[in-house]
Amino acid sequence: MPIQILSPQLANQIAAGEVVERPASVVKELVENSLDAGATELLIDIEKGGCKKILIRDNGSGIARDELQLALCRHATSKISTLDDLEQIVSLGFRGEALASISSVSRLTLTSKPAHQDNAWQASAEGRDMQVEIKPAAHPVGTSIEVVDLFFNTPARRKFLRSDKTEFSHIDELVKRLALSRFDVSWTLVHNGQPVRQLRQATDTDQQQKRVAALCGKAFAQHASRVNVDYDGMSLHGWLVQPAACSEQAVQYCYVNGRMMRDKLLNHAIRQAYGHLLRPEQQPSFVLYLQLDPRQVDVNVHPAKHEVRFHQARLVHDFVVSALQNALSQLQAAAEPELLP
Ligand code: ADP
Ligand code: MG
Repeated sequence: MPIQILSPQLANQIAAGEVVERPASVVKELVENSLDAGATELLIDIEKGGCKKILIRDNGSGIARDELQLALCRHATSKISTLDDLEQIVSLGFRGEALASISSVSRLTLTSKPAHQDNAWQASAEGRDMQVEIKPAAHPVGTSIEVVDLFFNTPARRKFLRSDKTEFSHIDELVKRLALSRFDVSWTLVHNGQPVRQLRQATDTDQQQKRVAALCGKAFAQHASRVNVDYDGMSLHGWLVQPAACSEQAVQYCYVNGRMMRDKLLNHAIRQAYGHLLRPEQQPSFVLYLQLDPRQVDVNVHPAKHEVRFHQARLVHDFVVSALQNALSQLQAAAEPELLP
């Protein structure tokens, strides 16, 4: 076969292979877009584990009519424009690939109204050949994206979908993780018409504590203490369970600059901080937020952005270890009975 340039649809479908693994990955990309658009209220309405329908409605900044088509194009983003921007990412998205990828493997409808526009407009694309239809619609300020029949045109991917129940449990777990990253946002998760989670904005400590209890369980909330350490432009805050109360059933969530992560370096640092305080069968339990200068973190490592690279890995690691060791020794001291007369 001679060398040829792939059709945009095929190129998008290949890209979709990297970011759209299952319905939960679609939810992640769409919710991150809503958060980047400044939304404070989110509805996540799912049918049949997301295999039939995923609808995300937000009250964010919206997309102007003349940008709807562009939003669905690959490498089209409003979040970065220079290498300098790429080196200090503050938004969750920046690759300009999610909508193009998702729309190439589903039937996607995007309805939006920015505050400055009188009416809402809707763009639809059906596993398309980059043909987008745009028509007037009714919608309050913000955006709704509906993704129907995920993988309908890619049978090989569709085959890997598990039962609706399993797919929904991935979505629920994801929504939990996301809801722990943004207490200032109200979240509603609906499955097959039934409300599953309803989390109001949690502005004060008391409300935050309640959200943590709702998402991480009563036991976690009961035994977790607050951590709050600042050092040299870095900060680590969140909740940490005292070693005596750690079991095999661990709650382990960590975030870097607001982005949920499963990071080897952080996990290692956390384990090291707990050290011999845990028996082998016990797992550390935590919800931790690390903040540092975005220039010190490279998020452009993995298409789905599950990983980051720290420019000063050693420094970050040691900061986390010592911050947590301090916090743990204070917890231990508070938990132990007074020995001195
Ligand atoms: P990225 O998030 O990497 O920029 P996406 O393909 O996810 O790429 O989205 C493309 C663009 O569409 C975004 O840069 C943004 O301008 C716009 N967009 C997508 N979703 C929303 C939303 N919910 N509200 C406002 N704008 C959105
Ligand atoms: Mg995005």
